[in-house]
Amino acid sequence: MKQHNVKSDKNISIVIPTYNEETNIEKLHKEVCKQMDATEYGYEFIFVDDGSQDASLDILKRLANLHENCYYIELSKNFGHQHALKCGMDTAEGDCIITMDCDLQHPPEVISQLLEKWEQGFDIVYTCREESHDLSFFKRKSSSLFYSLMNRLSDIDLENGAADFRLMNRKAADAFIKFEENELFIRGLVKWMGFRQASIRYVPNNRFSGESKYSVMKMISFAIKGITSFSTKPLKIAATLGLFFFFMSLTYIPYVIISYFNGHAVSGWTSLIVTVIFFGGLQLLMVGIIGLYLGKLVIQAKYRPLYFIKDTNYRVTKHKKQNTASEKSFLNV
Ligand code: UDP
Ligand code: MG
Repeated sequence: MKQHNVKSDKNISIVIPTYNEETNIEKLHKEVCKQMDATEYGYEFIFVDDGSQDASLDILKRLANLHENCYYIELSKNFGHQHALKCGMDTAEGDCIITMDCDLQHPPEVISQLLEKWEQGFDIVYTCREESHDLSFFKRKSSSLFYSLMNRLSDIDLENGAADFRLMNRKAADAFIKFEENELFIRGLVKWMGFRQASIRYVPNNRFSGESKYSVMKMISFAIKGITSFSTKPLKIAATLGLFFFFMSLTYIPYVIISYFNGHAVSGWTSLIVTVIFFGGLQLLMVGIIGLYLGKLVIQAKYRPLYFIKDTNYRVTKHKKQNTASEKSFLNV
């Protein structure tokens, strides 16, 4: 067993969702070890393999063989970043849990700042990405548009660039795992949870290698998920618009009647077509918004499990709440 100068009996779980990251895993592991070895804590890695099609899982298994504090969880298919994160959070038994991406965009150097805030007594330490010119223009603009829309429409106040790179202590993590929402938007849920929260700003690195798994379509669907999870304002906007145009059309009726008696009825073809197209489009949009929420209800009503674990080398425990302290067999490596 590798021995470090462990002075504290506190143990940190580092949860890393991993999807086709074969070229990043070892580098990330090395960099995080470097940071953690400089601290006084015991630590463990929990890599959640989210149905990778490349050699990621083999690499994770190899790491697990080489290092006693490396664990992998193999999900039964690709469930998505948020679900992989939730799986890692549900499983991890550390005194605090740090979640970070596998591509080194979340700088491992920031971990020491997260731990510092934790020691100061914060329950949740989240991070916000600084505007970096290394990020593409599109990513920067779409991200700031999303956060301003989100804040305007919902009751929670998300900071620009809020990331899924955060630390939660045991108390906050135990609260977090109670969420059973099918459409997870974790950074919003965390903000909504309360507790004592601190934030840290960081400058993101470039992706070490490989490509982002978030395509434009995935980003749009993530944004819609976020907004519809935290706000029913779009429904209210739909209803208000409906009401507004209903009253507008009432004022149009006298005009139609007068035109009829004036004998100008046929000449109204253009305005008729414009009106039909406009209201047709508007109605479809409103029905679509209602459909979005209805769809969410249908999915949630099924209460499907959020993920399935196919295989893991993590100590298989009963439900966390039944765990006594003595049952925890953490490795102080
Ligand atoms: N990821 C995952 N499942 C997915 C997509 C991504 O577990 O379906 C992981 C990925 O391996 C990485 C993190 O989630 O560790 C963030 O993904 P990515 O870097 O592609 O997103 P971006 O940083 O571009 O927003
Ligand atoms: Mg990334």
